[in-house]
Amino acid sequence: MSKEFHCRDMDMDCDFVMKGETNEEVSAGAFAHAAAVHPDVLASIPPEQMAGMQDLVISKIRDVEKVL
Ligand SMILES: [Zn+2]
Repeated sequence: MSKEFHCRDMDMDCDFVMKGETNEEVSAGAFAHAAAVHPDVLASIPPEQMAGMQDLVISKIRDVEKVL
């Protein structure tokens, strides 16, 4: 089982997809992407809501069956 985060699932007009094996890996990649590509969005989130954002990102991560 691998995992994917689609930036579009956060209502962003963006085709970025972060793939990984764990929620931690995928959410870290998603935040690194947001910092690089959507710094304005990230900057609009109050610090006290960042923990909630992380939970939201993790809730959007999809489990993907590997098709061989
Ligand atoms: Zn994006």
